Amino acid sequence: MGETLSYRPVEETLVSCVEIREFQEMMRRIYFHRDSRRGVEKTYRWLVEEVRELGEAIRSGDPEQVRDEVADVIAWLASLANLLDVDVEEAALSKYPGRCPKCGMERCVCEHELL
Ligand SMILES: [Zn+2]
Repeated sequence: MGETLSYRPVEETLVSCVEIREFQEMMRRIYFHRDSRRGVEKTYRWLVEEVRELGEAIRSGDPEQVRDEVADVIAWLASLANLLDVDVEEAALSKYPGRCPKCGMERCVCEHELL
């Protein structure tokens, strides 16, 4: 799958965020005034809509569209997390600290996750 996706060179991007926390803070700067007006429930519904659109993009087979929808999903997740006062990086890394939280292995061996 990696070979079919095209990545934009770094020099063409406006910012180069390597930390989830920096990305979430950037989303707060850009959108929090609007997110807080919209509220948790409507923002959650936007996230669900973007996840649905990601599903459509995957089925379309267009890697550019997939990439675009992945960006929307992470952006709306960051917006929602800002409203819920959840630090996405802290939450993700505390639950997934380099190993599977269910089997405890660095390389998951959970059988049920294949379903
Ligand atoms: Zn596991």
